[in-house]
Amino acid sequence: MFEYFCDRCGRWIHHQHNRYTMKIELFASKETLEITEEDLQRDHKREMEQLLDEMADQDPRKLMAEVYASYTLDLCPACREAVYQRLEQGELLRHV
Ligand SMILES: [Zn+2]
Repeated sequence: MFEYFCDRCGRWIHHQHNRYTMKIELFASKETLEITEEDLQRDHKREMEQLLDEMADQDPRKLMAEVYASYTLDLCPACREAVYQRLEQGELLRHV
């Protein structure tokens, strides 16, 4: 049997209690792409080479994390309630 610990309070989640899973995804917003006549005139090859040059010296994991990150957290019943209340009040991220 697996043992789980609450990611918020650190307490062991007893197997007879409910364990709650919270999934968080953090990713760049996707806006509707509007292509203009000016966009079609630009030198895309040069821009792409410039972008690749800029990315060459950067950490690939950091670059990936800027695009997408996901987290799966286990919560005990008390912390689930606390997180739920803060979400309902729109305050979950106020003090991060
Ligand atoms: Zn907890």
